[in-house]
Amino acid sequence: MATFGDKTVLVLGGSRGIGAAIVRRFAADGAAVTFTYAGSKEAAKQLASETGSKAVRTDSADRDQVIATVRESGPIDVLVVNSGFAIFGDALDQDPDEIDRLFRVNVHAPYHASVEAVRQMPEGGRIVVIGSVNGDRMPVPGMASYALSKSALQGLARGLARDFGPRGITINIVQPGPIDTDANPADGPMRDLMHSFMALKRHGRPDEVAAMVAWLAGPEAGFVTGAMHTIDGAFSA
Ligand code: NDP
Repeated sequence: MATFGDKTVLVLGGSRGIGAAIVRRFAADGAAVTFTYAGSKEAAKQLASETGSKAVRTDSADRDQVIATVRESGPIDVLVVNSGFAIFGDALDQDPDEIDRLFRVNVHAPYHASVEAVRQMPEGGRIVVIGSVNGDRMPVPGMASYALSKSALQGLARGLARDFGPRGITINIVQPGPIDTDANPADGPMRDLMHSFMALKRHGRPDEVAAMVAWLAGPEAGFVTGAMHTIDGAFSA
């Protein structure tokens, strides 16, 4: 397949989990892929050599690094912002610096990367940001900062769709439910609780999320923008 044979793709946060599946998918579909990593140097090196993609160390918590990497990778046809993390625990006990770091990675980086990418992005470009079903539904305590950060992406997509629509550039949010990764292993302690909310009693696979991202980035999705796309086994139904 060479759906993306003439396309340049940048994935922020591509070394592991959902991001790595997205890198593999675009590389298999023929794109020239660059991805970023923060801590997982070995995993990034291995993925780059397996897929023929390029790995660049960039901390998504650092606005200047994010903007520089996006600028140096341009012009990009497809930007995917996947880097993100959750903090669990009593809101009254959480370290405010760590909470602010979460907002920098989960909210500030998608905003600044999207705006910077569009400076050089050609007509028909695509932006896809990985949100979460927790942007719509937060059924347990201890994750308000994460829910807030993923809800914020909905406003990002609605707003930037208006800014960039005249250039035929789309922006969409993919909202996964539980997906089997290091961050949320299918055999983890929360498994039964999470599955109790779902119609499909299993974790999703990273490649299932990557398939939705590829469709949104592809030629069939040219009229889809400013929208949230949930892939969650009916977690939020
Ligand atoms: P993992 O923890 O398995 O992987 C996270 C990826 O993001 C890694 O490649 C990591 O790179 C990268 N990353 C994290 N922080 C940074 C940073 N500061 N700078 C650059 N890269 C960073 O997570 P998942 O694959 O599970 O999650 C990916 C996305 O999907 C996140 O946005 C998450 O919120 C979202 N999501 C996940 C769900 C799930 O159930 N798994 C459900 C809903 C949404 P490195 O290791 O190199 O630091």
